[in-house]
Amino acid sequence: MTTPHAARDIDTSRPHSARMYDYYLGGKDHFDIDEKAAETVAAAYPGIFVCARENRAFMHRATRVLAQEHGIRQWLDIGTGIPTEPNLHQVAQAVVPEAKVVYADNDPLVLKYAERLMRSTPQGRTTYIEADVNDPESLLDAPELAEVLDLNRPVALSLNALMHFITDAQDPYGIVGRLLGALPSGSALALSHCTPDFDPATWQKVTDIYTNAGTPVQFRSQKDVARFFDGLDLLDPGVTVGHRWRPESPVGDAALTDAEVSLWTGVGIKP
Ligand code: SAH
Repeated sequence: MTTPHAARDIDTSRPHSARMYDYYLGGKDHFDIDEKAAETVAAAYPGIFVCARENRAFMHRATRVLAQEHGIRQWLDIGTGIPTEPNLHQVAQAVVPEAKVVYADNDPLVLKYAERLMRSTPQGRTTYIEADVNDPESLLDAPELAEVLDLNRPVALSLNALMHFITDAQDPYGIVGRLLGALPSGSALALSHCTPDFDPATWQKVTDIYTNAGTPVQFRSQKDVARFFDGLDLLDPGVTVGHRWRPESPVGDAALTDAEVSLWTGVGIKP
């Protein structure tokens, strides 16, 4: 690892969104400053812990549905975050041991933990690339990606809790369109995205906290999240609050409210 990376890695003078997310999930890869900032968010929006947990649970279910019902064997997961078990490849390889997964994140901190994402089954394959979703062509052209994924066969593009970090000025719909444009028919988009729809005042506070901490965010409405799926065949039940997307135990999550979860989720297939 180069010196600039190492220097950026150990910046504990400011809270960090990926480490804050690790705190919400009950992980151990964060510092006191991240916990303090995360608790400020939690004071404004106590549902943040539920939101983070349901976001992971959606990723697990979407991955299983794509593997079991749509024959997906390859995934491109952008905005992977600090590894949290089970990681996507563990979920996919539990269904199809030969599943291949490329992880990508632009955060040097995630790179530091990437070894945990490389523990593939012998039949399958995983890799990690440091890349920015704002530059889809460089990401798709990465030699490491070509070593693992066959872009002539269907790939599931997994963008979980990523696109709310891409503001309209950064052309989020164009970015997703360019990524999907490189994938063949039968490929999929699985996406989750925080929303202000159920509690706008609270989400304005969350927006302000992140923005003031140096991380611009844009939480979007159901209609705006649905736009990411334009041109795809949306699987039932459409763009849905996270815990309502194909729940595996309907009784288990009945106590959750939409406002607590505040996450739009969906899966679409490229025709
Ligand atoms: N996908 C994981 C983690 C979500 S946290 C999950 O759903 O559990 C969001 C992640 O997106 C962070 O790790 C952050 O570093 C990454 N991210 C933010 N902006 C990015 C960008 N422009 N390019 C690539 N990754 C980005």
